[in-house]
Amino acid sequence: LTREEPSHFGAGPAQLPTSVLQQAAKDLINFNNIGLGIGEISHRSKDATKVIEDAKAHLKELMHIPDTHEVFFMQGGGTTGFSSIASNLIAAYLGKTGEVAPAGYLVTGSWSKKSFDEAQRLYVPSEKIFDAKTFYHGKYGYIPPESQWEDKVKGKKFSYVYLCENETVHGVEWPRMPKCITDDPNIELVADLSSDVLSREIDVSQYGLIMAGAQKNIGLAGLTLYIIKKEILDNISKVSDEQLHKLGLPITPIAFHYPTVVKNNSAYNTIPIFTLHVMDLVFQHLLSKGGVQAQQAENEKKAKILYGALDEFSDFYNLPVDPSCRSSMNVVFTLKKEGLDDKFLQEAAALKLTGLKGHRSVGGFRASIYNAVSVESVEKLASFVKSFAQQHS
Ligand code: PLP
Repeated sequence: LTREEPSHFGAGPAQLPTSVLQQAAKDLINFNNIGLGIGEISHRSKDATKVIEDAKAHLKELMHIPDTHEVFFMQGGGTTGFSSIASNLIAAYLGKTGEVAPAGYLVTGSWSKKSFDEAQRLYVPSEKIFDAKTFYHGKYGYIPPESQWEDKVKGKKFSYVYLCENETVHGVEWPRMPKCITDDPNIELVADLSSDVLSREIDVSQYGLIMAGAQKNIGLAGLTLYIIKKEILDNISKVSDEQLHKLGLPITPIAFHYPTVVKNNSAYNTIPIFTLHVMDLVFQHLLSKGGVQAQQAENEKKAKILYGALDEFSDFYNLPVDPSCRSSMNVVFTLKKEGLDDKFLQEAAALKLTGLKGHRSVGGFRASIYNAVSVESVEKLASFVKSFAQQHS
């Protein structure tokens, strides 16, 4: 069970630590010497329950999750999260206030846009508080300062306000959460952390709900992590299906109804326990490395090395994202000269630097430098970036 350490910069599913995969591979065959693999045991067995409890406990330790919040796991990926957030959170607001108010979306790239579109498709009252495109030559790559949009929030009612902390396709990351949202006790902040969860320290108490697909920083595809304020769960439980139906609001499918999932400790239906175990191994690996603080320092170093190399040759490389919101996870760039894109990828591949092709919707290149990508891999890429520019300038 060995491999050469990869230097893979794919956006997802992403590279995972080799030591985690080695342990997972063993556990897939014989878990804790019980003579069965982890994927072969009942999701309600003592062993499976322990995996769920361990994963929750390790995550709580890593993220300093306060008692006001609950952790749970669901299938369906980030996209199902878009739907389940809209239907659960509109119910929570109804349960709390007896009223319906629109959800507000801060659109900074394709993932927050998709989430907004899904809320609209489900007939959940929703509006864009802003679309960052309109501030930046019709393209994503910028997050407008609060002064330019906070008047659309102040004094208004929202069932929740949604943002995507790191736009994986466009390489745009919120440097910090907007104060006009976090300072308003009446607004529940809902955030998609699919591509930057556990990459930097955050204050969980600021969020009503955090959603993160596993397959980038924390594991394999197949599970999504949720951290929710307990009060929101109580408010959802106050609302009946009849009430929602009468108001023309969507009824959440039962497997994605947050209070039901939490009441059943994430095992209302069969939880992919192997996938969760891999997630827990990633959590343990991160704890042994010194936790999120240590990982953040490493990620900052990696981002500095790579952006530094690209900036040094700014007459050769184009970085479409404003420096104020450059992602520390997904580094997006293009070549200023035409006709060299294939050569860039081929020469990179010859050095075993893989996964650099940009998303089909934006083209160019994207180097995803998630937690498991080492400083050495990023150094290799940065030196290739420099030598390619020198050769072809
Ligand atoms: N949100 C973000 C930030 C993503 O990067 C992705 C996928 O890459 C998604 C949501 C959608 O995740 P899934 O493919 O698991 O539905």
